[in-house]
Amino acid sequence: MKTQVVKITDPQKQSQDVKHAADIIRDGGLVAFPTETVYGLGGDATNPLSSKKIYDAKGRPSDNPLIIHIAEPSDAEAYAYTNHVYYKLAEAFMPGPLTVILPKKETVPYETTGGLDTVAVRCPSHPIAHAMIKAAGVPIAAPSANISGRPSATSAKYVVEDFNGRVDMIVDSGDCEIGLESTIVMIDEKISDEGIVLLRPGAITYDALCCVCKDVLISPNIEGALGENERPISPGMKYKHYAPAAPLVLLDGDDESFISYLSNEQKNKNCAILCYDEDISKLDDKLLLTIGPKGDVATQSRRLFSRLRECDELKPDIIYAHLPDKNGLGLALYNRMIRAAAHTVIKIE
Ligand code: AMP
Ligand code: MG
Repeated sequence: MKTQVVKITDPQKQSQDVKHAADIIRDGGLVAFPTETVYGLGGDATNPLSSKKIYDAKGRPSDNPLIIHIAEPSDAEAYAYTNHVYYKLAEAFMPGPLTVILPKKETVPYETTGGLDTVAVRCPSHPIAHAMIKAAGVPIAAPSANISGRPSATSAKYVVEDFNGRVDMIVDSGDCEIGLESTIVMIDEKISDEGIVLLRPGAITYDALCCVCKDVLISPNIEGALGENERPISPGMKYKHYAPAAPLVLLDGDDESFISYLSNEQKNKNCAILCYDEDISKLDDKLLLTIGPKGDVATQSRRLFSRLRECDELKPDIIYAHLPDKNGLGLALYNRMIRAAAHTVIKIE
């Protein structure tokens, strides 16, 4: 298959390109496109064949459901049973990086929801994503645009790396602003009339959710590893994810211990290091990749996935990084890094 790569910077001026992408989606094809979180691999969410194509292209297990992307929060009515909690969340966070799990209506095929009776709904704020959904006139099912298990793509270059020749079109609109996938919550009336469970942390933080909903539970597998026979509410949580080719090890300790531990490792091993800007001058200048200033979690989040992919290009034997704090947006960064590291943490002092 020949993949068209189209640069779109202004969806209004380039409405013909947007229309072309939307036509491909409506005709059952696949288009990778930018969102404010990461690039998505899009198909018509109401077409079982499109969803099947998405799973095939990604190599994704077909029990791992897809998020459906809508243009306006109220568009959810056609595909899901909403309630007052959904609209409270929508009022506060949509359009934006929040996904809400709701009971599904018949309009969404089981192929899209991985066989579940629920559907994940998101209304992205990215102008190109918004324009494409509007022009398509159908919700766009879109998982992250990466081969299953690899770090999510936050720039079109990595989408091309994974999907050139496997999808109809790739829309290039530069780097994604947030860089980590959306926050996912499930409304749970068993908790209370304003109860939600946080299934995946993202740029809409736990604290922000608490300002809108009375009861916010954090799913235990956000921080810890799943037990062997444990089944998460969000099927994606059980899969290996975000992993670079070399093993990633997270170091838990202060900055001084980080430097002294790694100075030694650099002598003995071909190691890549994901470090803060402040660490650069203190380490040997080999295979260092900065993810941003120490206190700047937004920059670190934005860069994480591309740095993990750059690590692959350097072919180290092992990759080291700081274990992030879990405050605010830090919880999302922690969750992605701990999974990329398959929960390998070394305590250093
Ligand atoms: P990705 O598409 O790569 O951002 O991953 C989507 C995530 O949403 C996966 O972890 C899925 O398991 C989760 N998800 C999608 N639909 C549902 C659903 N109906 N119930 C629970 N989790 C879902
Ligand atoms: Mg993904």
